[in-house]
Amino acid sequence: MTMQWPNGKRVAVCLSWDVDGESAQYVRYPERARNQLSELHQRLYGPQVGIWKVLDLLKRYALPGTFYIPSYTAKLHPDMVEAILQDEHAVGLHGHLHHSLDQLTKAQEEEVLLKSQEIFQELTGAVPRIFRSPSWELNRWSPELLVQHGVVSDSSLMDDEAPYALKTPKGPLIEIPIQWLLDDAEHWNHHRANRDKAIADPDAVFRLWSTEFDGYYATGGCFVLTLHPFISGRWAYMNVLERLVKYILGFPDVWWTTLDEVTGFALDRLQQNELPIRQSPAPEPLDF
Ligand SMILES: [Zn+2]
Repeated sequence: MTMQWPNGKRVAVCLSWDVDGESAQYVRYPERARNQLSELHQRLYGPQVGIWKVLDLLKRYALPGTFYIPSYTAKLHPDMVEAILQDEHAVGLHGHLHHSLDQLTKAQEEEVLLKSQEIFQELTGAVPRIFRSPSWELNRWSPELLVQHGVVSDSSLMDDEAPYALKTPKGPLIEIPIQWLLDDAEHWNHHRANRDKAIADPDAVFRLWSTEFDGYYATGGCFVLTLHPFISGRWAYMNVLERLVKYILGFPDVWWTTLDEVTGFALDRLQQNELPIRQSPAPEPLDF
Protein backbone atom coordinates (compact mmCIF):
# COMPACT_ATOMS: atom_id res chain seq x y z
CA MET A 1 0.00 0.00 0.00
CA THR A 2 1.61 3.26 -1.10
CA MET A 3 1.43 6.25 1.24
CA GLN A 4 1.69 9.94 0.42
CA TRP A 5 4.45 10.69 2.90
CA PRO A 6 5.05 14.24 4.20
CA ASN A 7 7.09 16.76 2.19
CA GLY A 8 7.14 14.59 -0.91
CA LYS A 9 9.21 11.86 0.73
CA ARG A 10 9.13 8.54 -1.10
CA VAL A 11 9.57 6.13 1.78
CA ALA A 12 9.51 6.15 5.59
CA VAL A 13 12.37 4.43 7.44
CA CYS A 14 12.05 3.50 11.12
CA LEU A 15 15.03 1.97 12.89
CA SER A 16 13.57 0.31 15.98
CA TRP A 17 14.99 -1.61 18.91
CA ASP A 18 13.22 -3.87 21.39
CA VAL A 19 15.36 -3.46 24.49
CA ASP A 20 14.29 -6.72 26.11
CA GLY A 21 17.29 -7.37 28.31
CA GLU A 22 16.79 -10.50 30.39
CA SER A 23 13.04 -9.92 30.95
CA ALA A 24 11.69 -12.60 28.57
CA GLN A 25 13.80 -15.33 30.11
CA TYR A 26 11.85 -15.21 33.40
CA VAL A 27 8.51 -16.01 31.76
CA ARG A 28 9.63 -18.01 28.72
CA TYR A 29 12.06 -20.36 30.48
CA PRO A 30 11.60 -19.85 34.25
CA GLU A 31 13.61 -22.97 35.15
CA ARG A 32 16.56 -21.76 33.05
CA ALA A 33 16.28 -18.29 34.57
CA ARG A 34 16.70 -19.91 37.99
CA ASN A 35 19.59 -22.16 37.05
CA GLN A 36 21.43 -20.61 34.13
CA LEU A 37 22.96 -17.34 35.13
CA SER A 38 25.00 -17.07 31.94
CA GLU A 39 22.01 -16.62 29.68
CA LEU A 40 20.61 -13.82 31.85
CA HIS A 41 23.97 -12.08 31.63
CA GLN A 42 24.09 -12.60 27.85
CA ARG A 43 20.79 -10.73 27.62
CA LEU A 44 22.01 -8.03 30.01
CA TYR A 45 24.56 -7.12 27.35
CA GLY A 46 21.69 -5.20 25.66
CA PRO A 47 20.90 -2.57 28.28
CA GLN A 48 24.46 -2.52 29.62
CA VAL A 49 26.59 -2.35 26.45
CA GLY A 50 24.65 -2.73 23.18
CA ILE A 51 22.30 0.21 23.75
CA TRP A 52 25.19 2.64 24.13
CA LYS A 53 26.68 1.56 20.78
CA VAL A 54 23.25 2.03 19.20
CA LEU A 55 22.81 5.53 20.66
CA ASP A 56 26.31 6.43 19.49
CA LEU A 57 25.57 5.28 15.93
CA LEU A 58 22.31 7.25 15.81
CA LYS A 59 24.12 10.33 17.09
CA ARG A 60 26.91 10.04 14.52
CA TYR A 61 24.40 9.92 11.65
CA ALA A 62 21.88 12.30 13.31
CA LEU A 63 19.10 9.72 12.93
CA PRO A 64 16.02 9.14 15.09
CA GLY A 65 15.35 5.77 16.72
CA THR A 66 12.38 4.05 18.34
CA PHE A 67 12.88 1.97 21.49
CA TYR A 68 10.25 -0.45 22.79
CA ILE A 69 11.16 -1.34 26.36
CA PRO A 70 9.59 -3.86 28.77
CA SER A 71 8.83 -1.83 31.90
CA TYR A 72 10.86 -4.30 34.01
CA THR A 73 13.95 -3.49 31.92
CA ALA A 74 13.16 0.23 32.05
CA LYS A 75 12.89 0.15 35.83
CA LEU A 76 16.20 -1.71 36.19
CA HIS A 77 18.01 0.66 33.80
CA PRO A 78 16.60 4.16 34.33
CA ASP A 79 19.88 5.71 33.11
CA MET A 80 19.34 4.02 29.74
CA VAL A 81 15.76 5.33 29.47
CA GLU A 82 16.95 8.80 30.40
CA ALA A 83 19.68 8.72 27.72
CA ILE A 84 17.21 7.57 25.06
CA LEU A 85 14.82 10.42 25.93
CA GLN A 86 17.68 12.90 26.24
CA ASP A 87 18.58 12.18 22.61
CA GLU A 88 14.92 12.76 21.67
CA HIS A 89 14.23 9.24 20.45
CA ALA A 90 10.79 7.67 20.74
CA VAL A 91 9.90 5.20 23.49
CA GLY A 92 7.17 2.57 23.29
CA LEU A 93 5.47 0.05 25.57
CA HIS A 94 6.59 -3.59 25.28
CA GLY A 95 4.97 -5.41 28.20
CA HIS A 96 6.50 -5.72 31.66
CA LEU A 97 8.34 -9.07 31.71
CA HIS A 98 7.87 -9.71 27.99
CA HIS A 99 4.96 -12.15 28.38
CA SER A 100 3.79 -13.37 25.00
CA LEU A 101 0.19 -12.13 25.14
CA ASP A 102 -1.33 -15.40 23.92
CA GLN A 103 -0.15 -16.94 27.23
CA LEU A 104 -2.23 -14.48 29.25
CA THR A 105 -5.93 -14.18 30.11
CA LYS A 106 -7.61 -10.90 29.27
CA ALA A 107 -7.47 -9.83 32.92
CA GLN A 108 -3.75 -10.69 33.13
CA GLU A 109 -3.02 -8.85 29.89
CA GLU A 110 -4.84 -5.77 31.16
CA GLU A 111 -2.95 -5.92 34.45
CA VAL A 112 0.41 -6.10 32.64
CA LEU A 113 -0.50 -3.21 30.33
CA LEU A 114 -1.58 -0.99 33.23
CA LYS A 115 1.55 -1.90 35.20
CA SER A 116 3.82 -1.00 32.27
CA GLN A 117 2.02 2.31 31.82
CA GLU A 118 2.31 3.11 35.53
CA ILE A 119 6.04 2.37 35.58
CA PHE A 120 6.73 4.64 32.59
CA GLN A 121 4.60 7.37 34.17
CA GLU A 122 6.69 7.13 37.37
CA LEU A 123 10.01 6.91 35.54
CA THR A 124 9.54 9.52 32.83
CA GLY A 125 6.46 11.52 33.77
CA ALA A 126 4.64 10.34 30.65
CA VAL A 127 3.04 7.20 29.23
CA PRO A 128 4.18 6.15 25.73
CA ARG A 129 1.31 6.08 23.24
CA ILE A 130 2.93 3.46 20.98
CA PHE A 131 3.05 -0.28 21.67
CA ARG A 132 4.69 -3.37 20.23
CA SER A 133 3.65 -6.75 21.58
CA PRO A 134 6.35 -8.99 23.05
CA SER A 135 7.12 -11.77 20.55
CA TRP A 136 4.75 -10.02 18.08
CA GLU A 137 1.71 -11.99 19.30
CA LEU A 138 -1.69 -10.48 20.06
CA ASN A 139 -4.87 -11.95 21.47
CA ARG A 140 -8.11 -11.31 19.61
CA TRP A 141 -9.08 -8.83 22.31
CA SER A 142 -5.68 -7.07 22.41
CA PRO A 143 -6.33 -4.29 19.86
CA GLU A 144 -9.53 -3.26 21.69
CA LEU A 145 -7.81 -3.42 25.09
CA LEU A 146 -4.98 -1.22 23.83
CA VAL A 147 -7.36 1.43 22.49
CA GLN A 148 -9.37 1.29 25.72
CA HIS A 149 -6.24 2.19 27.68
CA GLY A 150 -5.08 5.04 25.49
CA VAL A 151 -2.59 3.26 23.24
CA VAL A 152 -2.70 4.76 19.75
CA SER A 153 -0.56 2.41 17.67
CA ASP A 154 0.69 -1.15 17.56
CA SER A 155 3.57 -2.56 15.53
CA SER A 156 3.15 -6.35 15.62
CA LEU A 157 1.25 -7.48 12.51
CA MET A 158 2.53 -8.44 9.08
CA ASP A 159 -0.22 -7.98 6.53
CA ASP A 160 1.06 -4.82 4.85
CA GLU A 161 4.11 -2.62 4.25
CA ALA A 162 2.56 0.70 5.30
CA PRO A 163 0.37 1.87 8.20
CA TYR A 164 -3.36 1.31 8.32
CA ALA A 165 -6.17 1.56 10.87
CA LEU A 166 -7.34 -1.66 12.51
CA LYS A 167 -11.00 -1.57 13.53
CA THR A 168 -11.81 -2.33 17.15
CA PRO A 169 -15.09 -1.96 19.10
CA LYS A 170 -13.46 0.92 21.02
CA GLY A 171 -12.21 2.75 17.91
CA PRO A 172 -9.34 2.39 15.43
CA LEU A 173 -5.82 1.31 16.36
CA ILE A 174 -3.05 2.46 14.02
CA GLU A 175 -1.05 -0.58 12.90
CA ILE A 176 2.52 -0.13 11.63
CA PRO A 177 3.50 -3.49 10.12
CA ILE A 178 6.71 -5.43 10.69
CA GLN A 179 8.23 -8.67 9.34
CA TRP A 180 10.38 -11.55 10.69
CA LEU A 181 12.78 -11.02 7.79
CA LEU A 182 13.54 -7.52 9.10
CA ASP A 183 14.27 -8.76 12.66
CA ASP A 184 17.85 -9.40 13.80
CA ALA A 185 16.74 -12.23 16.14
CA GLU A 186 15.80 -14.49 13.24
CA HIS A 187 19.32 -14.28 11.85
CA TRP A 188 21.59 -13.85 14.84
CA ASN A 189 19.94 -14.77 18.15
CA HIS A 190 22.40 -17.41 19.22
CA HIS A 191 22.58 -18.92 22.69
CA ARG A 192 23.42 -22.21 24.36
CA ALA A 193 19.97 -23.76 23.86
CA ASN A 194 19.97 -23.22 20.07
CA ARG A 195 23.62 -23.79 19.23
CA ASP A 196 22.58 -26.15 16.39
CA LYS A 197 21.16 -23.18 14.50
CA ALA A 198 23.72 -21.58 12.22
CA ILE A 199 24.57 -17.91 12.69
CA ALA A 200 23.56 -16.07 9.52
CA ASP A 201 26.29 -14.57 7.37
CA PRO A 202 26.28 -10.80 8.04
CA ASP A 203 26.78 -10.11 4.31
CA ALA A 204 23.71 -12.21 3.49
CA VAL A 205 21.64 -10.27 6.04
CA PHE A 206 22.82 -6.98 4.53
CA ARG A 207 21.69 -8.22 1.10
CA LEU A 208 18.28 -9.25 2.50
CA TRP A 209 17.67 -5.95 4.28
CA SER A 210 18.95 -3.71 1.47
CA THR A 211 16.91 -5.64 -1.13
CA GLU A 212 13.81 -5.32 1.03
CA PHE A 213 14.52 -1.59 1.33
CA ASP A 214 14.73 -1.32 -2.48
CA GLY A 215 11.19 -2.71 -2.69
CA TYR A 216 9.82 -0.39 0.00
CA TYR A 217 11.50 2.57 -1.71
CA ALA A 218 10.02 1.66 -5.09
CA THR A 219 6.51 1.31 -3.70
CA GLY A 220 6.40 3.96 -0.96
CA GLY A 221 6.19 1.75 2.11
CA CYS A 222 7.21 2.17 5.74
CA PHE A 223 10.45 0.21 6.23
CA VAL A 224 10.60 -0.92 9.87
CA LEU A 225 13.75 -2.67 11.03
CA THR A 226 13.45 -4.44 14.41
CA LEU A 227 16.67 -4.97 16.33
CA HIS A 228 17.66 -6.04 19.85
CA PRO A 229 20.72 -4.49 21.53
CA PHE A 230 21.57 -7.81 23.23
CA ILE A 231 21.75 -9.48 19.82
CA SER A 232 22.92 -7.02 17.16
CA GLY A 233 24.79 -4.76 19.57
CA ARG A 234 27.83 -6.89 18.70
CA TRP A 235 30.41 -5.33 16.39
CA ALA A 236 29.88 -7.61 13.38
CA TYR A 237 26.16 -6.88 13.41
CA MET A 238 26.47 -3.16 14.19
CA ASN A 239 28.64 -3.07 11.09
CA VAL A 240 25.76 -4.45 9.00
CA LEU A 241 23.44 -1.80 10.42
CA GLU A 242 25.93 0.96 9.64
CA ARG A 243 26.34 -0.35 6.09
CA LEU A 244 22.56 -0.34 5.71
CA VAL A 245 22.32 3.23 7.04
CA LYS A 246 24.96 4.36 4.55
CA TYR A 247 23.17 2.49 1.75
CA ILE A 248 19.80 4.15 2.52
CA LEU A 249 21.48 7.56 2.91
CA GLY A 250 22.43 7.20 -0.76
CA PHE A 251 18.75 7.53 -1.77
CA PRO A 252 16.96 10.90 -2.07
CA ASP A 253 13.65 11.71 -0.36
CA VAL A 254 13.83 9.26 2.53
CA TRP A 255 11.84 10.16 5.66
CA TRP A 256 14.00 8.96 8.58
CA THR A 257 11.48 8.88 11.36
CA THR A 258 10.13 7.14 14.46
CA LEU A 259 7.12 4.91 14.93
CA ASP A 260 5.68 7.64 17.13
CA GLU A 261 5.90 10.18 14.28
CA VAL A 262 4.47 7.67 11.81
CA THR A 263 1.63 7.11 14.30
CA GLY A 264 0.87 10.83 14.37
CA PHE A 265 1.04 11.02 10.58
CA ALA A 266 -1.25 8.02 10.16
CA LEU A 267 -3.76 9.48 12.66
CA ASP A 268 -3.84 12.67 10.63
CA ARG A 269 -4.41 10.66 7.42
CA LEU A 270 -7.18 8.73 9.15
CA GLN A 271 -8.95 11.94 10.11
CA GLN A 272 -8.84 12.96 6.45
CA ASN A 273 -10.22 9.58 5.32
CA GLU A 274 -6.94 8.82 3.57
CA LEU A 275 -5.84 5.78 5.57
CA PRO A 276 -6.96 2.24 4.79
CA ILE A 277 -9.25 0.78 7.46
CA ARG A 278 -9.08 -2.98 8.00
CA GLN A 279 -10.57 -5.54 10.30
CA SER A 280 -9.07 -8.76 11.58
CA PRO A 281 -9.99 -12.08 9.92
CA ALA A 282 -12.99 -13.95 11.32
CA PRO A 283 -12.23 -16.57 14.02
CA GLU A 284 -13.84 -19.25 11.84
CA PRO A 285 -13.81 -19.43 8.01
CA LEU A 286 -16.65 -17.42 6.52
CA ASP A 287 -19.37 -19.40 4.77
CA PHE A 288 -19.59 -18.04 1.22
ZN1 LIG B 1 10.85 -8.04 22.69
